[in-house]
Amino acid sequence: MIGGVQIQGRASLGGNLCNASPAADSIPALIVHHAICDIALPQTRRRVPVEEFCIAPGKTVLGRGEFLASLHLPPPPPGFGAAYLRFIPRNEMDIAVVGVGASVQLDESRRRIIAARIALGAVAPTPILVSAAGEALVGADVSEAAIARAAQIAQAAARPISDMRGTAEFRRHLVGVLTQRALNKAIERASRQTEQAA
Ligand SMILES: Cc1cc2nc3c(=O)[nH]c(=O)nc-3n(C[C@H](O)[C@H](O)[C@H](O)COP(=O)(O)OP(=O)(O)OC[C@H]3O[C@@H](n4cnc5c(N)ncnc54)[C@H](O)[C@@H]3O)c2cc1C
Repeated sequence: MIGGVQIQGRASLGGNLCNASPAADSIPALIVHHAICDIALPQTRRRVPVEEFCIAPGKTVLGRGEFLASLHLPPPPPGFGAAYLRFIPRNEMDIAVVGVGASVQLDESRRRIIAARIALGAVAPTPILVSAAGEALVGADVSEAAIARAAQIAQAAARPISDMRGTAEFRRHLVGVLTQRALNKAIERASRQTEQAA
């Protein structure tokens, strides 16, 4: 969903991350996949989780001379599913008003959540991991009530501003709606994944 044909053909995932836009679409998705940045200087390497990589709009933890050498995504465990959804006023080629990434890991029964992550874009100076929203789902049976509770926590963690794309109030509302939808989609994918694994 990022950009159009030209961007999709030329731009890189690393460039989208290093650009450090609070609304970058790939970043919440990378965060919920536990992605790790491998940062290089000519003589040294260090690793930083994606959720700690952006520190302000357009600013990252990269120091002088450092560059992002690679991104590492751990193999998804059994019962894992993820989804990213964004709201834009047009069908494509627009900056997210709100973006939400969600991932879950279900147990063997496919009814209980054993791990979850929720990350938000365009509602804070950087994309953010809302650890408390994911933690609230751990140990819970899949239910509308559990998903609604996680969405409420995500809403409370958002720090949106009002601008030409939408008011802070509208953005907060969208966080709730998109978190629920992204979680439902992640759960649906996780259920299918577990089925295949079984
Ligand atoms: C028409 C259009 C539509 C777009 N639509 C979207 C969209 O829908 N969603 C979205 O999220 N973004 C969108 N963008 C933004 C675009 O996706 C990002 O700017 C793009 O992903 C950047 O990738 P790039 O490889 O071209 O990076 P570049 O533009 O080459 O780099 C971006 C910045 O990161 C630095 N950088 C790049 N790679 C590294 C590295 N490995 N190590 C250190 N620094 C590095 C560069 O020096 C530069 O400062 C759009 C942009 C345009 C022009």
